Amino acid sequence: MRWQGRRQSDNVEDRRGMPVGRLAVGGGLGTIVLLVVVMLLGGDPQALLQQMQPPAGDSAAGPQQVDPAEQPLRDFVSVVLADTEDVWRELFKTQIGRDYRDPKLVLYTGQVESACGFASAAMGPFYCPGDEKVYLDLGFCEELQTKYQAPGDFAVAYVLAHEVGHHVQNLIGYSDRVDEQRGRVSKAKQNELSVRLELQADYLAGVWAHHAERTKKILESGDVEEALGAASAVGDDRLQKQAQGYIVPDSFTHGTSAQRSRWFRLGLQTGDLARAKELFELPEDQL
Ligand SMILES: [Zn+2]
Repeated sequence: MRWQGRRQSDNVEDRRGMPVGRLAVGGGLGTIVLLVVVMLLGGDPQALLQQMQPPAGDSAAGPQQVDPAEQPLRDFVSVVLADTEDVWRELFKTQIGRDYRDPKLVLYTGQVESACGFASAAMGPFYCPGDEKVYLDLGFCEELQTKYQAPGDFAVAYVLAHEVGHHVQNLIGYSDRVDEQRGRVSKAKQNELSVRLELQADYLAGVWAHHAERTKKILESGDVEEALGAASAVGDDRLQKQAQGYIVPDSFTHGTSAQRSRWFRLGLQTGDLARAKELFELPEDQL
């Protein structure tokens, strides 16, 4: 991706090396918000609940060293975040007729507290609608290459654009609609709704890439393949196969590798924000 020399976002909240405090997250509020937490990987929000206990001890420890080798990556994600701000500000103004509200990007190491509760880096990047922040441990970018075999800077850009996609859903109201239904439907139906929301975030990541390319010529050869590689790597089927050796389609919450790549690609090709609603209109077998 061509990114050097462009604006870096000032919405980056750098908490790397900072100890995780013991700020009490109200049980009620934390739990409600938790249900709508959206992650990149095929995690189960209920499983997340158990991880969301405040970490033991440590809170009195001073800040740790931040790895200076992470600086270029920090600069890169700050530029990508700025690029998402530019694209979504314009699309909100011209196509929705209102102002876009920038999300914050929190960089952290190991563990972090959010309005959705405590989280650990093992969960992967996530977006918390309660505070409108995207949470990213830069170590995950390394893992994309090593653990998920999805190398390349544009793989990282896709991940960030996907999480920002969840923010866009939150602002437009798509996530509310899903949350509303979530309490009233079967587990299988809940998973289906979750898949639709995740594929839509992939689509929105593609829409972002389309407009960033149109206005800034960001793509280098191989970039699209890098993003598609990452989208496939975090498909439910691939992750389940990796973790347990077999797949259980009913338990999918994020969509298969093929679905995730397809929707990212469609967003990239069309750049058409209006078509995002198709994710909630198409029958399940056409996703
Ligand atoms: Zn997601």
